[in-house]
This record gives sequence, structure tokens and C-alpha cells, in this order.
Amino acid sequence: MEVQASAAVGVQANARITGPIILLGPPAAGKGTQAKLISETFGIPQISTGDILRGNVARKTELGMKAKAIMERGDLVPDELVCDMVASRLQEADCARGFILDGFPRTVRQAEWLDKQLEKMRGCKKGDAAAQQACAAPVVIRLVVDYNVLRRRITGRRSCPTCGRVYNVYSQPPKVQGICDVDGTALVTRPDDAEDVFAERMKAYDQQTLPLVDYYRERGRLVEVDGEQPVERVMEQAFSAIENVNRL
Ligand code: ADP
Ligand code: AMP
Repeated sequence: MEVQASAAVGVQANARITGPIILLGPPAAGKGTQAKLISETFGIPQISTGDILRGNVARKTELGMKAKAIMERGDLVPDELVCDMVASRLQEADCARGFILDGFPRTVRQAEWLDKQLEKMRGCKKGDAAAQQACAAPVVIRLVVDYNVLRRRITGRRSCPTCGRVYNVYSQPPKVQGICDVDGTALVTRPDDAEDVFAERMKAYDQQTLPLVDYYRERGRLVEVDGEQPVERVMEQAFSAIENVNRL
């Protein structure tokens, strides 16, 4: 059964255990934007594999050195590296009430790995219903956005290298041009948002990530939201999906 997003809901921060939430969609669909809003409202962490990888590249870690060239050309980092990275992040204490996966899984192998990992986590928490709920089967929110809209969003995207907040010069400009509203840092354009790299990222999405739509639909986990609506409207429908989902 597909879970339908419906009307807006009022959500109390830290009100309850939400469990795992996956944001699925192509580059610039709005996953990071929505993940931050969900994180602030529900009090659960945003786990962006892209942000973690970029952090590793900036710190020149072993993982960062392996990932750098792959990311620069718009390909996907190998499943093993990304799954290990997510496994250690999920062990952190702030994931105890649920978490938002933004940009993961991106291949069917990653999705299969995640299902097994969540099952393993539930197995370790037998007898503790609340702890099991935190790692229950995920709700998967797919943001549906047309290619031409994605392209325009990519060219307008700017982000803060300090706090990670995302802006758009067309639709969500900062108060002062080029400066983060939150901490005053100069905003940057991601190098992989260049037109040729974007085309490669879209290819990777179509070939390797799109099959996840059927994967989660067949398992009754998928909620589809029109990601071309204004941020607030997308947010209302995502919140509604989180509130109304039946965890397995
Ligand atoms: P993703 O994490 O999926 O790559 P982002 O959240 O970074 O996408 O959003 C991509 C760009 O589109 C950003 O510049 C963001 O400000 C903008 N954006 C996000 N959601 C919307 C929306 N609903 N309407 C218009 N612009 C949006
Ligand atoms: P994102 O910030 O989600 O757009 O990701 C930026 C880049 O990081 C992608 O183009 C990939 O090279 C890499 N990446 C992020 N998440 C994953 C993932 N789950 N699997 C493989 N590569 C990833």
C-alpha cells in the first residue's frame, strides 16, 4: 500500500519517536532544504551523505581522498565506502529517536544494506519497543521535480560552507547578496553544480537511483510529493507523511 501525503499538520518539536525518514529525489529536488526543516521540527538529525563526504574531502581524510575525484566528475562513491560511513553515523546517540537520510540510499545495493542494518539494529533492542521504533522500516518521501526545474535550481544554488544552509539566487535569496543570514559567511557555489557535472549526476540518478522508486513502492514505504511546489507546501506534505505513516 502506498502511503499518501495529505493535509498540513501541526507538529510539536520532540513530541515522539519518528523513526527513519528517507528523502529520495534527483540533484536539487530540495532534499537538503526539507531535511533541515524536518530536523528542526522533529528534533532528529539530518544525515546527508553528500555533506559528510564533502567534509571528508575538505579534511583530506582517507575516505575524502578516495571520494574526491569521483564526486568531481558526478559519479557515485562506491557502496561499501558510503555504507560504512552511514553505519558509524547511525551508532551515534542523536539517532535514538529517528533520523533523516538525505541522499542515501542511492543504489538498490545501498537500500538492501540499509534494510538489513535496520533489522540488525532492531534485533539489538529486543524488548524495548521505543528503541525499536526509532529504527523501524523507513518512510520514503520522494520529491518529484521536472528536469528543467532542476537545472534552474542547480544554477541558482548557493550554500554556506560553515552552517550548510542552502539558498537560491532566484527563489530563496539571502537577505544580503552572497552572505549567509545565519552566520555571515560568504556563500559558495558547489563545483559539482557546474552544467557538465550536473548532467553526469542526472545520468547517475536515472540509471542507479531511480530503481529505488519501485523498490520502496513494492514494499509499501513510498510517499510521492510534488517537489515543484513552494518550500512551505512541500514541507506540509512531508510532515503529513511522517505523521501518518504506519511503521511496519
Ligand atoms: P538537494 O538537497 O535535493 O540537492 P537542495 O535542498 O539543496 O536540493 O535544493 C536545491 C536548490 O533549490 C537550492 O538552491 C534551494 O534553495 C532550492 N529549492 C529547494 N526547494 C525548493 C522549492 N520547493 N522551490 C524552489 N526552490 C527550491
Ligand atoms: P549530494 O550532496 O547528495 O548531491 O551528493 C554529492 C555527491 O556525493 C554525489 O554526486 C556523489 O558523488 C556523492 N554521494 C553522496 N551520497 C552518496 C551515496 N549515497 N552513494 C554514492 N555517492 C554519494
